[in-house]
Amino acid sequence: MTYQSVNPADGKLLKKFEELTDKELATKLATAASCFEIWRHKTYAERAVIVAKAAALMHGRVDAFARTMTLEMGKRINEARGEVEFSARILAYYAENAERFLAPVKLHPTHGEAHMESSPLGVIFGVEPWNFPYYQLARVAGPHLMAGNVLVVKHAGCVPQCAIAFEKLWIEAGAPAGLYTNLLISHDQSDRVVDDPRIKGVALTGSVAAGKSIASRAGQNLKVSSMELGGSDAFIVLDDADLEHAVKWAVWGRMYNTGQTCCAAKRFIVVESVADKFLAEFQAALAALKAGDPMDEKTTLGPLSTESALLDLLKQVDGAIAKGARVVMGGKRINRPGSYMEPTILTDIHPENPAFRDEFFGPVALFFRVKDEDAAIALANDSDFGLGGSVFTKSIARGKRVATRVETGMMFINNIDWSDADLPFGGIKNSGYGRELGDMGIQQFVNKKLVRVSSADAPA
Ligand code: NAP
Repeated sequence: MTYQSVNPADGKLLKKFEELTDKELATKLATAASCFEIWRHKTYAERAVIVAKAAALMHGRVDAFARTMTLEMGKRINEARGEVEFSARILAYYAENAERFLAPVKLHPTHGEAHMESSPLGVIFGVEPWNFPYYQLARVAGPHLMAGNVLVVKHAGCVPQCAIAFEKLWIEAGAPAGLYTNLLISHDQSDRVVDDPRIKGVALTGSVAAGKSIASRAGQNLKVSSMELGGSDAFIVLDDADLEHAVKWAVWGRMYNTGQTCCAAKRFIVVESVADKFLAEFQAALAALKAGDPMDEKTTLGPLSTESALLDLLKQVDGAIAKGARVVMGGKRINRPGSYMEPTILTDIHPENPAFRDEFFGPVALFFRVKDEDAAIALANDSDFGLGGSVFTKSIARGKRVATRVETGMMFINNIDWSDADLPFGGIKNSGYGRELGDMGIQQFVNKKLVRVSSADAPA
C-alpha cells in the first residue's frame, strides 16, 4: 500500500488508498489526451475562467485545505494556511498573466518579417513531493494549464488526501474531464507514463535520486523535462551583518516547515569575528522552540512529515557524528508521541564527512566558521547542490558581489524570502534544471515556433 495518510503528530493511520490498476490508468491517460484536443483550442480568456475559479475556491476555503495538510504531513497550521493562500495566488497570477507571457514575439531578420509563437505541447506528467502538498501542485497547474497543456500528476505517497482535494478543486471549478488528473500510481507505472507517447513532457520536484530516475527515462524518450531537486543552501553571515536580523532569518530559514524545504538554509557559514555571538544567539533561539500539536497555533515546533523521515534523519545525524561532527545541541528524537526531532546544530564537519555534501531534510543546521568573505564563498560553492543561498551584510553592494559569485540558481541578500508568483524558482548542479514560477515557469512546456514571411527568391 503506497498511498497512506498518517498523522505524524501521533502516528495514527487516517486513511489508505488503493493504487490505480493498469486499466484505470489507461482510461485516465486516454481522457487526458482527449481533453487536450479540446483545451488546446480554448482562448486564454476561456482557460482563465477555470483557473481563476480554482484560485477563488482555494482562497475561500483556506482552513479546510490547510487542516488536511496539517493532519497528513504535520505542517504547523499557520504555515499551512499561508501555503494555501500562496497556492491560490499562483493560480490567479497565471490566469491574469499567461496571455501576456505567451504573446507572439516579433523578430528582426535581415529581410522579410518573423515572429516566435508559443503553442501547447500536450499532456504533461508532474511528479511532486509532500513537503508543500498544494504549492507544488499550483506551481505546475497554474502555468501549464493556462499554456493550453493538460496535466496528469503523481503526488507523494504520504499526502493522498491533499492530492485528491486538489483534483476535486478543478472539477468544482468547472474543468473538463481530464484537464487535471491525480494518479495514485506506483513507480513502475510512473515509468510507463513517462514512456507513453501521449505524454509530451515531465516536471518533477523531489530528491536527486528521483530526478535521475525520471530525467533519464524522459531523456530516453526524448521528452522535455524540468527537475526541481534538493539543496544544501549556504546562509552566509559576514562580519558587518546585523546579527539580530540575521539570527531571526536563520531560525526561520532552517525551521520553517520543520526544516523540510528544498531551499532551506542548511549550511550556516559565518565569518570568524562574529561566529561565537551568532552561534550563541542562534542556539538560544532554537532552544526556545516548543514541540506540540501542529494544529495548535501556539506550537512553534511541529513533527517531521513521517516516521520514516524522522528515522532517516536521526541515522544521518548519527552517521555525521561517527565521522567526526560535534553536536552543539540536539541530535535526538523528542520523547513524546509522534515523529518529533530536537532542533539540532552540528559543527566540525570536515570535507571527508558525508555530512559535508549531504542534504539534511529536517531541523538540523550545519555550522561552519570561516576566515573571511572569500572563504565563505569558496565553502558555499564546495557543494554538489546549487539551489539557493543567502548573504547577510549591511552593505548591499557587498551582498550583491557575494550573490554574483555563489554558484546557485537563486541568491537572497539580508532575507530568504524564497518564493513569489512573479519570481523564477530553480537551481543548477544536482539541484536540477528548468525554472518554475514567473514568466520563465510558463515557457517550460510550450513549442516555441519560428514563423518567417519573405518573398525573396530562392538562392541560385
Ligand atoms: P522523493 O522521494 O524524490 O519524492 C518526490 C516525488 O517523487 C514523490 O511523488 C515520489 O513518490 C516520487 N518518486 C520518487 N522516486 C520515484 C521514482 N523512481 N519513480 C517515480 N516517482 C518517484 O523526494 P522526497 O524525499 O519525498 O522530497 C524531498 C526532496 O524534494 C528533497 O530533496 C527536497 O529538497 C526536494 N524538493 C525540491 C524542491 C525544488 O523546488 N527544488 C521543492 C521541494 C522539495 P513516492 O512518494 O510514491 O515515492
